[in-house]
Amino acid sequence: MQITELQKKIETLLPPGCTLSKTEIEGPDIVIYLKGIDKLYEMDNPIRDIATAIKKKIIVRADMSTMLPPDEAEKKVREIVPETAGVNSISFCPEFHEVWIDAMKPGIVIGKGGMTLKSIIKTTGWTPHILRSPTLPSEIIKGVRASMLKESEARKKFLTKIGKKIFAPHEKTTWVKTMALGGHREVGRSCVLLETSNDKILLDCGVNPDISDPTTAYPYISAANIPIDEIDAIIISHAHLDHCGFIPYLFTCGYEGPVYLTPPTRDLMALLHFDYIKVMKRGGNTPIYSEKDVRKCLAHCVTREYSEVTDITPEIKLTFHNAGHILGSAISHLHISDGLHNLIYTGDIKYGGTRLFNPATTTFPRGETVIMESTYGGKDDILPQRAEAEMKLLRIISETINAGGKVLIPVFSVGRSQEVMLVLEEFARRTGFNRKVYIDGMVMEASAIHTVYPEYLRDNVQRMILSNKSPFESPIFELVKSDRQAIIDSPDPCVIIAPSGMLSGGPSVEYLKMMGNNEKNAMIFVGYQGVNTLGRKIQRGDREVATLDDEGRMQSIHIKMRIETAEGFSGHSDRRQLIAFAKNLKPKPSKIFTVHGEESKCEDLAYILSRIMRIEVRAPMNLDGIRLK
Ligand code: ZN
Repeated sequence: MQITELQKKIETLLPPGCTLSKTEIEGPDIVIYLKGIDKLYEMDNPIRDIATAIKKKIIVRADMSTMLPPDEAEKKVREIVPETAGVNSISFCPEFHEVWIDAMKPGIVIGKGGMTLKSIIKTTGWTPHILRSPTLPSEIIKGVRASMLKESEARKKFLTKIGKKIFAPHEKTTWVKTMALGGHREVGRSCVLLETSNDKILLDCGVNPDISDPTTAYPYISAANIPIDEIDAIIISHAHLDHCGFIPYLFTCGYEGPVYLTPPTRDLMALLHFDYIKVMKRGGNTPIYSEKDVRKCLAHCVTREYSEVTDITPEIKLTFHNAGHILGSAISHLHISDGLHNLIYTGDIKYGGTRLFNPATTTFPRGETVIMESTYGGKDDILPQRAEAEMKLLRIISETINAGGKVLIPVFSVGRSQEVMLVLEEFARRTGFNRKVYIDGMVMEASAIHTVYPEYLRDNVQRMILSNKSPFESPIFELVKSDRQAIIDSPDPCVIIAPSGMLSGGPSVEYLKMMGNNEKNAMIFVGYQGVNTLGRKIQRGDREVATLDDEGRMQSIHIKMRIETAEGFSGHSDRRQLIAFAKNLKPKPSKIFTVHGEESKCEDLAYILSRIMRIEVRAPMNLDGIRLK
């Protein structure tokens, strides 16, 4: 439907006294500006009714002439919103006609059935944009929000530009193919190019956690032979560097398009990108992008919640679904050209219970081809049940602490760390365990971001956060400010949770250097250890290992501490869960590609799935191009 047609249709749906003054396209959304907006809000569900009638998401705004000046509007908002909402700040974003209300209790700002929101729009003309305040201080949330506000004008221009492309007249798609640009038969630098006769979309664009070999550090973007500015969109499954670490670099190469992701993925991704730059510098490497590029990437993010259907090109609709892996992780469903083909890209998935998330979704409207992860797809990759893993972790912690030692748990700052924190929080509540659990900065920051998005978490954790009993604020947790040495020098036994998870740099390596040669101490791995990482070397038994000192010189560490692995904590599915995920897919796909796993694992999983499901399953290699339609 063209815009003029849409406009006519919308006009027929408006109540008397409410008139359409302007229609605009803003990225994938249609925005309508109304005079007499209060009349519209006297209807029950006006926006939903219009969106259903035109089969497009719409945003409704009051006409500029009917809006109060910001200072008057702020006064009104403060009068309307009950004090119990805990409003922290009110800001105005004129480009989008929005008043941003940052509050401890967004539910109260919304009001019963949206009453308070409606009252704000009707009285002030400004559309409330409600933001939940983190229950822990978070520099990233503050920074992302400030930067979005600051970039409003540029974002408005950018969204108008991509909107024109999305709603432009177009040819019917005649063919669909994918090309493997990274993360095939390996873990790291995940990247798939989805190409059709009309569109070019990147699904993830990560880096390899092991950057020691420059030939395998980054995806094969140049091999795709596509000018960067011809890529229509990038879709990010979740905020782990092996899925999103390369994106700011694309902006240095001239990419100006949208990055689609869930709101928590955007915030966590910003945290990781800024940290990646720091870790590169600390390791004596030149970062491949700067803070400025990260901010540019941030300004080009277009967020979508699970289940929202979005036109990302004239011929492709994107919908995110829960992937169960980390906060905001998403399976992408791509509906191409009115059903010519449907592609499901899983990203990393957990098809099993965890403390934080529901298992990955397996039901989709359609899905002929599935690209799925295979991290633990190997013949022997049967992981212990979660309860067993938790018991093992707590047993080693208790044994070490009772013997006067300290426990180091290296973790990804996002994902496993919060799972482990929840296990320890519950243990403390249940048993009275009261030793300090030191949380290194990045982990605490990531935990704070979790408190902003309780709706992405399992019901019980959500309830705890909403009732001011956030498990991340248990008194056993103590944020490490700066002096790590003092923690180690103190005679008190303790637990330390620190990134990076594979000991590929970061505070966990600093602690290892200080704690490694004391046999009273223990280190417990709770996540996947990449090939060639320091973590993998120690896990397989190396006790004389090399790392870099502060000046970037090689330093050898003699490891006497106890080394253990508590398997079963992974945010990845084990082999049984991967098979169950594929078998439970509805509808049954006709093709599966296994990716994101070491060579033998991708092959093993492809073999077993093809036998069980009797469909085409294969493990493509990097640089393979496969026609889907
Ligand atoms: Zn991941």
